[in-house]
Amino acid sequence: MTSPILLAIEDLTVSFDGFKAVDGLNLYVERNEVRVVIGPNGAGKTTLLDLICGKTKASAGSIKFKDTELTKLVEHDIVKAGVGRKFQTPSIYENLSVRENLELSYPKGRNVFGSLFFKVTDKVRARVLEVAKDIFLSDRLDTSAGLLSHGQKQWLEIGMLLIQDPELLMLDEPVAGMSVSEREATAELLGRISKNRSVIVIEHDMDFVKDIAHRVTVLHQGKLLAEGKMDEVQQNEKVIEVYLGH
Ligand code: ADP
Repeated sequence: MTSPILLAIEDLTVSFDGFKAVDGLNLYVERNEVRVVIGPNGAGKTTLLDLICGKTKASAGSIKFKDTELTKLVEHDIVKAGVGRKFQTPSIYENLSVRENLELSYPKGRNVFGSLFFKVTDKVRARVLEVAKDIFLSDRLDTSAGLLSHGQKQWLEIGMLLIQDPELLMLDEPVAGMSVSEREATAELLGRISKNRSVIVIEHDMDFVKDIAHRVTVLHQGKLLAEGKMDEVQQNEKVIEVYLGH
């Protein structure tokens, strides 16, 4: 039977000049789960995602994604293993159309040589249409990405990850700067995405957290402060203390 756990993080620690930004962390993310990571500034949220995607190397501990130990892999191989990460600032090609951005993100088309020899087959075209529909951009396929609204750019970047079919998607503040309707659409999108993959989201907007989170992990000073459903976490005295103290 397939394990319900997709990502198992154990005793994860990273030190920067002796300062532990992530300190002995244990975290388990299930398949089809939306896990939101919250915590005050400097809690270690971004560093945690950096460790998972290989941008930062762990000092100690393990990050097991299915049967693969990610701490032994470089960033590129972590992507290939099925982990996609979206940063806060969109990294789309502004001069290219939505369609071209999606085509270029199709697996193998990401690097320069890959793109030169990359052929847009019917299969690729069909997948682009499917993803464009998922991210509400079916009628913007021929629009230059630079002309999209801020929210649409964020969706396009999510689409550029989805087209690579990751089993784990990590998003850093996906609704920052979005309008109310774009937020609602993003919540619905994340619900849909998590039907067949897991999502880890760093988020500060508590209303949005309530809308999307299956479970919430609260970090404080690099350590796990609390974990559970949003209403449980909200009533946790340690969590209240940390948030009121800021
Ligand atoms: P959060 O995302 O929760 O705001 P971060 O993960 O960005 O927190 O940072 C956690 C702590 O680690 C902060 O005190 C930050 O200054 C420190 N830190 C993060 N990356 C580095 C680095 N490359 N070198 C030194 N200190 C770092």
